[in-house]
Amino acid sequence: MTTAILYDPLFLAHTLAGHPENRERLESIITALDKSGLRDRTIAIPPRPASREEVGRVHSPAYIDLIRHLAESGGDTWDGGETYVVRASYDAAVLAAGAAIRAVEAVLAGEADNAFALVRPPGHHASAGAGEGFCLFNNVAIAARAALAAGLERVLIADFDLHHGNGTQAIFYDDPAVLYFSTHQWGIYPGTGWVTETGHGPGLGTTVNVPFSAGVGDSALAAAFDAVLAPIARRFRPELILVSAGFDAHWSDPLGSLLATITGLTGLVRRLVALAGELCAGRLVLSLEGGYSLDALGAGVCASIRALLGEAEADDPLGPPPWPERRDDALLARVCQIHGLPPLKSL
Ligand SMILES: [Zn+2]
Repeated sequence: MTTAILYDPLFLAHTLAGHPENRERLESIITALDKSGLRDRTIAIPPRPASREEVGRVHSPAYIDLIRHLAESGGDTWDGGETYVVRASYDAAVLAAGAAIRAVEAVLAGEADNAFALVRPPGHHASAGAGEGFCLFNNVAIAARAALAAGLERVLIADFDLHHGNGTQAIFYDDPAVLYFSTHQWGIYPGTGWVTETGHGPGLGTTVNVPFSAGVGDSALAAAFDAVLAPIARRFRPELILVSAGFDAHWSDPLGSLLATITGLTGLVRRLVALAGELCAGRLVLSLEGGYSLDALGAGVCASIRALLGEAEADDPLGPPPWPERRDDALLARVCQIHGLPPLKSL
């Protein structure tokens, strides 16, 4: 398989010293990529900025203008310093959204089988009229709307970031053309994504949440993908799979308490590669979201790219968590029941 990588140094210019979502995240990925030799085996596609029309399919004109104005006037922070804009942030955010769109274009045009947009700022907490949780523009949502504008009728977004993608859920909550599936840790930011949040109106049933409690690891995440995502995806029949690829569910991440390993997270990517192959001619686009353990982030992205390339499983340099992981089959059984899926067999 051929895999495209979309990256631009402008993504480093959006940064704030002392903030966990800073330029070092992407620098660690680039360093790991350079050491891995994967650059020679992937296709580098330069991102392009998203147009105002493209961003405007998701975000309100007033919000787009606000972010641009904040950047032009030197920057600002809100949410108690959680979310920030610096002078380069508007251009970086527009390019991040454009990278996700360009990745979709590349996959739809057959320039590559699949793609990974290595972008900052992340996007899945940004809603139509507000940025929060380190996110300014919702890259994956903007890419999904671009795919629909290009003529696709059904897009699946799978989100394995530690956190619930509240922005993505809100944007597509009543939209039957986009199915949003998320695994996340319950009881932390942003506080949304309970099992009973399933969509609204014509979008009822196209929001699927698996909110795990702390201590759940690889086995539970894999079961969520096998028992919930796979049958839901087969029922939905997507023409493209987009992925909010965050690596903060890793056990070493300072922001959460899920216990995934690099091998486990990569196993989720392998499942997505297989589902895309089965359902939509392999069309799969990953876009970077969170991940705040720099070692796990670099290793996780490289291992994910190996999975996109169809390579056999690689070593996990960080190994298993130092604590035992739990299962949460009762939660999975409830999600299956809510979404009319076959009951959980003994997993
Ligand atoms: Zn996250």
